[in-house]
Amino acid sequence: MEDLRARLEAAAQRAGRDAAEVTTLAISKTKPVEAITPFLDLGHRCFGENRVQEANEKWPSLRDQYDAIELHLVGPLQSNKVEQAVALFDVIQTLDRPKLAAALAKVGDKHGSLPALYIQVNTGEEPQKAGIAPTELATFAAQCRNDYSLQIDGLMCIPPADQAAGPHFALLNKLAGEIGVEKLSMGMSGDFETGIAQGATHIRLGTTLFGPRN
Ligand SMILES: *Cc1c(COP(=O)(O)O)cnc(C)c1O
Repeated sequence: MEDLRARLEAAAQRAGRDAAEVTTLAISKTKPVEAITPFLDLGHRCFGENRVQEANEKWPSLRDQYDAIELHLVGPLQSNKVEQAVALFDVIQTLDRPKLAAALAKVGDKHGSLPALYIQVNTGEEPQKAGIAPTELATFAAQCRNDYSLQIDGLMCIPPADQAAGPHFALLNKLAGEIGVEKLSMGMSGDFETGIAQGATHIRLGTTLFGPRN
C-alpha cells in the first residue's frame, strides 16, 4: 500500500495533478470477503466488482458492517440483472447499449433514483469487446439523455491488450470533453500511471492490491 501510494503520488506529480483527484477503485472480483475486509479496516471505501451475482454474495453483508462504501460495477451488465445491479451499486461504469439504457430508465422510474452512470467506450473498436464505438458515442449519449432521461457522469475504457494505452486514454479524455462529462475511469494495474497522466479520475486496481487472480 505504501509503495502504491508513492507510485500514485509520483504519477500525479509528473502529470502536474493532485493525487487526491484520482480515486483508486480496489477491484475485488474473485476475491473472498476475508481478502476485502483488511482494506476496509484500513479505511479504503471504493471498490469495484465485475459480476452482479458475485457482488450480491459479498457486498450486502460488508455494507452492514462498514459505512460509506462506494461500489462500482466494472463488468458487463445483462438487461435482466439491472434491477439487482441498481440495488447493489453506487456507480455502473458499463452502460454500453441502447437496450441497457432503456432497462435502466425503467428501473429508475420505479426506484426514483439510479446509480451514477458511465458509458463504456470501445476505444480500440475490438469486435469481442463491449462498449460504444468512439464515432457513435455522441449519438448514444444524446439518446441516453434525451430519450431515456439518464444522467451520464463519465466514461470508461479498457484499451486493447497489445497496444500502448496512452493514445486510448487520450481519446477517452477528448471524448469526455466533447460530450461534457467529468469522470474518466481508465488505468488498471499495468497502466494506471498512464491513466493518471491522461487525466483519469478513477483507476481500477485488482492485481496490484490483491495479488494475482486464479
Ligand atoms: C479485472 C479488472 C480490472 C483490474 O485488473 P488488474 O489488471 O488486475 O488491475 C480493472 N478493470 C476491469 C474492467 C476489470 O475487469
